[in-house]
Amino acid sequence: AAAKILDGVAIAKDMKDEVKAEIEGFVAEGRRPPNLCVIQVGEDPASKAYVTNKIKACKYTGITSEKIVLPVETTEEHLLSLIKEKSDSDEVDGLLVQLPVPKHITERKVCNAVHPSKDVDGFNIINIGKFCSDQKSFVPATPAGVMEILRRSGIETFGKNAVVCGRSKNVGMPLAMLLHADGVYETKAGDATTTICHRYTPPEQLKLFTKTADILVVAVGIPGLITADMVKEGVAVIDIGINRVKDEKTGKMKLVGDVDFEGVSKVAGHITPVPGGVGPITVAMLMKNTLTAYKKEITFE
Ligand code: ADP
Repeated sequence: AAAKILDGVAIAKDMKDEVKAEIEGFVAEGRRPPNLCVIQVGEDPASKAYVTNKIKACKYTGITSEKIVLPVETTEEHLLSLIKEKSDSDEVDGLLVQLPVPKHITERKVCNAVHPSKDVDGFNIINIGKFCSDQKSFVPATPAGVMEILRRSGIETFGKNAVVCGRSKNVGMPLAMLLHADGVYETKAGDATTTICHRYTPPEQLKLFTKTADILVVAVGIPGLITADMVKEGVAVIDIGINRVKDEKTGKMKLVGDVDFEGVSKVAGHITPVPGGVGPITVAMLMKNTLTAYKKEITFE
């Protein structure tokens, strides 16, 4: 049996079209459209590409955007004062600083400087705290997007076994939160029995865990970590890895995930491709978060 491929581009388009339609409604009522401010420090090529994609999605959905590119030697003090200025501006609904920031700047300070009501990345400690106590909050776009893929593809999480490989603060951890927590609360979490694997999961044991998964999410950064022998028949596999590798045949660079797509797609029930899986959905989710910020749907007293 061949897995059904979860088309991230198509799902992302649906999500963006919904955001676009809602914004058109507000604009028709005479309101200004939502606005997103994106701050990039330095010229890291991957960061540049992500920022470009975000600005493009803003244009598509009708969100006005401002992209601010600061030189790599920008001081922490200057960055924090700019964040404060944008946090205080009535013209700005969503505000994010593209990570990673240069080493001389403390990431945690940057995340906490963004006002929680504009923190569309969900990296401010107030949002993390709310989120971890099952309250409505801004949730990081990648994990929120993964839940959206599952929901829109009719993949049930309630009472299922979910395995998350990777425990980063921006992806693996919040995703495990969303999968395991109680669906009756504001975060509408997945009620799955959830296992987190990470770099200290002994390699020979990783398979014992992944084999139990009805839903397997991989955010590790190791191409081909998950192979066909490690998964259960019918599993839904969500591959968050984005790895740049050299194509053996053509010698050109290409993007691959953390899952051996060719092998695993013969066993899985559903699988996301890389590229064209989680990536576009993350961007669409950011648009949705920006609309949420604009609508002031989450309260911070
Ligand atoms: P991302 O931002 O996509 O989550 P990171 O590079 O921040 O990626 O995190 C990688 C994660 O992968 C870490 O949590 C690390 O513990 C986990 N990891 C690394 N190697 C393995 C492995 N062999 N098996 C499972 N998890 C691993």
